[in-house]
Amino acid sequence: MKTILIASSNPGKLREFQSILQDIPIQLVLPADIGVHLNVVEDGNTYLENAQKKARAYCKASGLITLADDSGLEVDALNGAPGLYSARYAPQTNATDADRRVYLLEQLAGKPQPWKAHFHCTVVIATPTGEEYHHTGNCYGQIWPEERGTGGFGYDPIFYLDDLNKTMAEISSAEKNRRSHRALAVLDAVPTILSLTENK
Ligand code: IMP
Repeated sequence: MKTILIASSNPGKLREFQSILQDIPIQLVLPADIGVHLNVVEDGNTYLENAQKKARAYCKASGLITLADDSGLEVDALNGAPGLYSARYAPQTNATDADRRVYLLEQLAGKPQPWKAHFHCTVVIATPTGEEYHHTGNCYGQIWPEERGTGGFGYDPIFYLDDLNKTMAEISSAEKNRRSHRALAVLDAVPTILSLTENK
């Protein structure tokens, strides 16, 4: 079975990718599983640049086909913020996900609702022979003015899915893994993954 390296230190992300790709006969591993330890600074100007940086660095260090992703939340009323800076969006040092949600709602206070928003994800797959493939996914909804639900992470408790009348923190992980921005980007990448791994 072919192995694909997931360029992340986050075991939660590995579980998410494993669930999305469960029907494909590949083995997914994290850098730590194969003794690779890198510190890639995500200082690109786009999601694509950040994902490329991670995919290329880990592919070079491991010699494995490598999948990297970069994602963020874009809020229309904030001109696309927090966007690339979603993970760092709060004035405090050592801010938590909860601090970032509070800060985001503070930035939106007084602006007309609904606060339309989407999550974006760019996935880059890099191969040891220098090929590179890009795939994207978006998940649309709105920012809800108070937290609902306990699942997920990050902005999930205030990201509301209109068709389900639920926030992303109120749906099951199986449902999230069918419709999230990351799921849609990875599902879009399935033909690429199959062509790189089948009969090889
Ligand atoms: P990264 O792509 O893992 O670096 O994610 C960047 C940031 O975007 C995270 O730290 C979260 O704040 C936010 N984010 C990305 N994906 C999600 C999601 O599925 N739910 C909630 N927040 C997310």
